[in-house]
Amino acid sequence: MKPSPEQINNSPTSSEHDPQKKSTQIPQPGTAQGGCAFDSAMMTLLPIADAAHVVHGPSGCAASMWGTYGSLSSNSTLYKIRFTSEIEENDIIFGAAKKLYKGIIELQRRYKPAAVFVYSTCITALIGDDIEGVCKDATEATGIPAIAVHCPGFIGSQNLGTRVAGEALLENVIGTEEPDFTTSKDINLIGEYNISGAIWNVLPLLEKLGIRVLAKITGDARYKEIACAHRAKLNVVLSSKPLTSLAKRMKKRYGMPYIEESIYGVEQISQCLQNIAANLDDAELQERTAMLISEETAALHEKLAPFRTQLQGKRILLYTGSFKSWLIIYAAQKLGIQIIATSTLNSTEEERARIKSLLGQDSIILNQDSPAEILQIIIENQIDMLIAGERYLDTALTAKIPFLNIKAESNHPYAGYAGILEVSKELYAAFSNPVWEHIHQPAPWEESKAVGE
Ligand code: SF4
Repeated sequence: MKPSPEQINNSPTSSEHDPQKKSTQIPQPGTAQGGCAFDSAMMTLLPIADAAHVVHGPSGCAASMWGTYGSLSSNSTLYKIRFTSEIEENDIIFGAAKKLYKGIIELQRRYKPAAVFVYSTCITALIGDDIEGVCKDATEATGIPAIAVHCPGFIGSQNLGTRVAGEALLENVIGTEEPDFTTSKDINLIGEYNISGAIWNVLPLLEKLGIRVLAKITGDARYKEIACAHRAKLNVVLSSKPLTSLAKRMKKRYGMPYIEESIYGVEQISQCLQNIAANLDDAELQERTAMLISEETAALHEKLAPFRTQLQGKRILLYTGSFKSWLIIYAAQKLGIQIIATSTLNSTEEERARIKSLLGQDSIILNQDSPAEILQIIIENQIDMLIAGERYLDTALTAKIPFLNIKAESNHPYAGYAGILEVSKELYAAFSNPVWEHIHQPAPWEESKAVGE
């Protein structure tokens, strides 16, 4: 069934893709180029690694985002192949449903995917192609489920696209198969896409506790596990407000409770494990969880010691609006690094208050996107490093201080206890890069000029 924007409640949350762009913002015609509802619906479902993902639209829609998110898979790589019906002028006039049908049949014959997800885009939604009907016919013809995802970019914000993807799973996938067996400690993880392998920092912890992840929705997922997700005992929503609606609907439909947790930050992952154990209502599991947490935090403390020695007392300016700000704030606290100034551009009032309480009342809060202001703060406060998006590299070079590109960090898994160690390594590598010594030296021609004089 196709959900309408009204059916799907849209609530604000900060964007993880671009700190300058809010995920609740509605794309403007001609300026979207990704970052639209279609884009985030694809980002949500693409990590289902043994499925084929077909963009029903012009190849430009697929090209705008394909490969930009580093969602990793532990074996199947089918999700990496770009399938598109590549709509052209004639298709707009005569319709492209037949072309889509033939394409799905062909890819099912050649690649034998576990399922096919078909994404509508602005053009195919406007010309009114019956994607639902095509998917139904293709499923009947091949026996492989084909699922329509109604997510043209114009329907609304990125959050809405994520919700539409969740609806598509709930209406067409979840509950369609049965697991081989169930246990009293089966859970689903919702809203983590395994970017750079983040989820692999968390799964071993759950495994040590004897908790089985029945379905990962959707990082490193397989179609069948999501189809069996209705048999879990608990849904754990990880840092994804838009997919909370999926957990709410599953609670209503299957009576499955849910909790909302974060796996980024030491206290966060500890809290997450504790809450999972508490909700599975097993006293012995809770005891073992407490033991595991104290072992993991002690081991992390030891591993962080060499970095703490090198970085303690450093002063940084953190300019980003994504969840990574929080991660760096938590890592900085463990390492004795002072965050002198930070931005709250995309933060809610509650988050602003939390940042203030974490950093202290004297911390500087930046409310403007101004490189000149950032440079001034760096100079006045003897900042040792700037952490920001790529476009602030010039500001750091002008101030002659180390720079860490916050967006490039998406190449590293920052979740769990191992994630904090990863952040610390990144901070240390950025500080100790020899290039920063060189920019304080006079240029070779200036040196030779001085000798000549
Ligand atoms: S779906 Fe629409 S807004 Fe999104 S990239 Fe395609 S044409 Fe642009």
